[in-house]
Amino acid sequence: MSKELLDEYIKTFKEKKIKLTDIRLVILKCVASRKHFTINELISEIEKELGTVNVMSVYNNIDLLLDLHLLFSNTINGKQIIYEAITNQLIHIKCHECDSYEHINSPILSGELWSSCQQFLDSIGFTMDHFKLEMHGICKKCSQKNKVEPSK
Ligand SMILES: [Zn+2]
Ligand SMILES: [Zn+2]
Repeated sequence: MSKELLDEYIKTFKEKKIKLTDIRLVILKCVASRKHFTINELISEIEKELGTVNVMSVYNNIDLLLDLHLLFSNTINGKQIIYEAITNQLIHIKCHECDSYEHINSPILSGELWSSCQQFLDSIGFTMDHFKLEMHGICKKCSQKNKVEPSK
């Protein structure tokens, strides 16, 4: 988990005078761990930490974090919503076959994308704040499997 990120969130809460309840702290910890999560995963995380969960309250707190711009919501397949910490560069890869959905953490790729996007955006007078990119295709595991078992 990123301690700095969690501290940053707690600071935001203090600045906005929002009460840091137990459930909020658990949610912030989950977000700060920077893995994407679904609402059900979050609910079971809270259950583990606090014993009980008020599902309505989880939804309300997700809304709060979205309003505070601490959270992104993305959809996989246009159906499943996943949440994750806001960052200025977010790259995901998604496999058509096994539906795996993963982060790409490459400062080199991010840096190159950032500068080529900004270069283009400059030409239309747009200043970029952040980007989200989702690349679709076939993962390594699936392409190896396809080689071993040719289609019937
Ligand atoms: Zn993600
Ligand atoms: Zn795959």
